[in-house]
Amino acid sequence: MACKILTLVEHESGAIRDTTFELLGLAHRLAGEAGWSASDIKALAIGQDLAGPASSVAARGAAEVICAEGEAVRDYTCDGHARVLESVIGAESPEIVLIGHTPNGWDCAPVVAAGLGVPIATECSNVAFENGRPLFTRKAFNGKFIQVVDLGDARPKVATVQRGASPAFGGGTPGTVRVVPAGVAAGELRAAFAGVKKGETGAVDLTQASVIVSGGRGVGAAEKFGVVRELAAALGGQIGASRPVTDMGWLPHEHQVGSSGVTVNPKLYIACGISGAIQHIVGMKGSGYIVAINKDPDAPIFGVADVGVVGDLFEIVPALTRAVKEAKGQT
Ligand SMILES: Cc1cc2nc3c(=O)[nH]c(=O)nc-3n(C[C@H](O)[C@H](O)[C@H](O)COP(=O)(O)OP(=O)(O)OC[C@H]3O[C@@H](n4cnc5c(N)ncnc54)[C@H](O)[C@@H]3O)c2cc1C
Repeated sequence: MACKILTLVEHESGAIRDTTFELLGLAHRLAGEAGWSASDIKALAIGQDLAGPASSVAARGAAEVICAEGEAVRDYTCDGHARVLESVIGAESPEIVLIGHTPNGWDCAPVVAAGLGVPIATECSNVAFENGRPLFTRKAFNGKFIQVVDLGDARPKVATVQRGASPAFGGGTPGTVRVVPAGVAAGELRAAFAGVKKGETGAVDLTQASVIVSGGRGVGAAEKFGVVRELAAALGGQIGASRPVTDMGWLPHEHQVGSSGVTVNPKLYIACGISGAIQHIVGMKGSGYIVAINKDPDAPIFGVADVGVVGDLFEIVPALTRAVKEAKGQT
């Protein structure tokens, strides 16, 4: 049976990756905006022995998880994924296909769109219906411009979506799992899977943080980040940064929020000494509650802040840390 939205399940070593549930969160919001029902949302998992892990996807957002299984697609190849996606899209005829903007997603999604002869919007920070049409928000010209793209009347419209761009689906669904043959033989594929070489992983994953305290150029130096660090620690949060901070090596790149860093959506985002350039805003404007501390009353960051404090961060931030510790009985 046809569906309206098809999302691609990301998995690794039998574990479903968070991106999967973020795409399903987005799919449910879009279905709500379009007047579609939850039963119009399906997910596709490609690999082998996926029925077990897929049941968690059926329980958290997908009305049906189609597990396309076969030895040839046990491990990721662009060829294998693209062929299965094209065939399932052909059978399900979705209006929208959502794929994570992950190394696998950005590799295979354009191949799928080209194979089907349909348009694609890559690295979207948002997708939303306006006047009955899905609009895809993405950066262009190396992040200098934000594009809002209407992909026309083609079906499907394919999009890759940034990690952290949407909250994960939080509800429960009585979805089902259907295992089908991938329909791809190893000999038919041009690419062969050679192995995974993992890079060093940092301890920081801002996309999953519920509290982020970010410092900008206004902090002034690497050694002055202590005030930001202490507030983050008092709140049990992570430390974020604007690009100059990571460019100057005050913090590693994994802390950078924005168009060339990560997109975050914590419950609380505190920006300290950050002016609010569009490249930073695009990465944090989805936060639940935004507090900005800046000594310039005209700083653009105040335009997206729920609470703005005009003042010197070296006075305000330590005072805030003391207040948090007092409230938690830590002093
Ligand atoms: C292609 C491209 C991609 C980019 N990607 C990103 C990105 O991913 N993320 C990102 O952040 N930027 C990005 N940028 C850079 C962006 O355009 C801005 O230059 C950057 O965000 C500014 O960082 P900032 O706010 O820390 O510094 P500034 O703009 O210099 O602002 C510093 C702020 O600190 C305030 N301040 C100074 N001292 C204090 C004090 N003692 N107390 C309180 N406030 C104080 C000042 O009033 C000022 O508002 C990108 C740019 C380009 C061209």
